[in-house]
Amino acid sequence: MIIAPSDAGFFPKQQEANMAVPKRRQSKSRSAIRRAQVMKQPVPHFVPCPRCGEPRLSHRVCTSCGYYKDRMVVEKSEEESS
Ligand SMILES: [Zn+2]
Repeated sequence: MIIAPSDAGFFPKQQEANMAVPKRRQSKSRSAIRRAQVMKQPVPHFVPCPRCGEPRLSHRVCTSCGYYKDRMVVEKSEEESS
């Protein structure tokens, strides 16, 4: 990279470029508290099936009747309430 003399003011010297530095070392407890949120497992989102009323995962085929968006996707041997 070629720095023209006119651009010299744009690039500060090393002493002038003081970056923000943490004042204190973060304790082990603080880091563990923050990382505890990462370890949380998401709760599966259950919604009642509009066809049979059984709880199913949203945007998934119903496991009890095999329907998705008023259409049979998975063949089920026994059907209920239809
Ligand atoms: Zn269903």
